[in-house]
Amino acid sequence: MKSKEPSFPKAERLIDVAIRRSFIMPSAEIYGAPAGFYDYGPVGCAIKRRLENLWRSEMLQKEGFHEIETSMILPEAVLKASGHAENFSDPIVSCKKCNARFRADHLLSENPAFAASGAKAEGMQDAELTDAIRKYKVACPNDKGELTEVARFNMMFKTAIGAGDERVAYCRPETAQGIFLDFARIVRNYGSRLPIGIGQVGRSFRNEISPRQGIIRMREFSQMELEYFFNPEKQSHAGFTGISGEKLVFELEDGKVEERTLAQALSDGIVPNEIMAYFLWKQERIYLASGIPRGKFRFRKIPANDTPHYSRGNIDLVVDTSYGWIETTGTAYRTDYDLSSHAKASGADLSVFVEEEKKKVVPHVVEPSMGVDRMFWCVLEHCFMEKTPEKDWEWFNFPPAIAPYHAWIFPLMRKDGMEEKAREVESLLRESGLIVYCQESGSIGKRYARADEIGVPYCVTVDYDTLKDGTVTLRFRNDGKQVRLAIGELAEKIASFVKEGKVALDLA
Ligand SMILES: [Zn+2]
Repeated sequence: MKSKEPSFPKAERLIDVAIRRSFIMPSAEIYGAPAGFYDYGPVGCAIKRRLENLWRSEMLQKEGFHEIETSMILPEAVLKASGHAENFSDPIVSCKKCNARFRADHLLSENPAFAASGAKAEGMQDAELTDAIRKYKVACPNDKGELTEVARFNMMFKTAIGAGDERVAYCRPETAQGIFLDFARIVRNYGSRLPIGIGQVGRSFRNEISPRQGIIRMREFSQMELEYFFNPEKQSHAGFTGISGEKLVFELEDGKVEERTLAQALSDGIVPNEIMAYFLWKQERIYLASGIPRGKFRFRKIPANDTPHYSRGNIDLVVDTSYGWIETTGTAYRTDYDLSSHAKASGADLSVFVEEEKKKVVPHVVEPSMGVDRMFWCVLEHCFMEKTPEKDWEWFNFPPAIAPYHAWIFPLMRKDGMEEKAREVESLLRESGLIVYCQESGSIGKRYARADEIGVPYCVTVDYDTLKDGTVTLRFRNDGKQVRLAIGELAEKIASFVKEGKVALDLA
């Protein structure tokens, strides 16, 4: 039997485009680029920051929540209390011949006979996996060697604090833990009132055994997590009334895909409370604003027997990609599990005194947790445009608010003062807060193509008329049409186009 690596030709092509156009780069490439690590290039980094800021704006700023930044290295005690030391693991097998290690469930899923049986390897117990591997005669993909029994591999990166009397520590597997650890102090400093929202954007680590899906499965990745702490006796949300009629697409436990209003989703028990409904709606807004069209993502209700014992409801946001439907955001009603576990393990009091009820409560938590890199990937996939007779190059249809630059500026030629004028325009636009870049080399047609190729929504050209009357052309990315504008009104116009999301002169 030959086990084949799954291949995703469309995704591989897009990764290639992304590397050539400075979106991403393999990390430590000159040393062989270990799998599961990618750097963000100038273009990708700019887009990633816009996505993070969109999240900040929707999930923190508009809600009056707090953003913090916590340590990426955590003492072992924290991860024992959180359950990661014990449970953050994958099932693995080793080859008895070449000692290579593999994800047991992945190898099994790739076995045609097993796949044909209709069984699912994910979620199987270790003993069941071992039995199935024996039954279907799954062997090492390298040399057909016999495989060991399934064992557990903890995916945290281990390290040590200090020299000499070292203490075991780990790179954090999620950003959430730091928020729970800082919770008590923040609540005290802000007057001990619930609800309170605390969020964090940052890197997390997961030592994947065999990552091979580009930036979907990385060993070092970015998360945007919000912990919304509330009194368990108050499951309502002040913002819910205004949005209860909004419709989202849900994938129900039986696999059916249906549109429901948030009020219906609540009364049908799809979402456990108004708080969760409210944050799902926020995610919908963020995804639409990022250029991922409606119909390409939906909210998947996780069946109760697939959720942790302490959970009162999990709903994933899943997106249609060339890797299939992938989870990019998980929203969980985690009850008081984390705070109670840390209170118990540390001896700290993590309860809040509720004035109206004259008693202490350990707050409950709803946690929307977004993966930045996965979201970035979905944006690339859904904004990627193939060649057409009108545009003889592949380009990206990013909404202007998340594009890497607001505008590129071109002098028509590098003579007669046009270059100097273009630099003046560049400074003027930068002063007004726009992110612009002056590109001098190549024919105008080539420069337009290059701007399109990374999704720049507007190009400004300085030509001979500019020198005479102080006007420039502004070209819209999507239809290539141009308007003539005075330099003095340029900054204001571009800012308003960005705000409106205007990407063509003639909107269809
Ligand atoms: Zn082998």
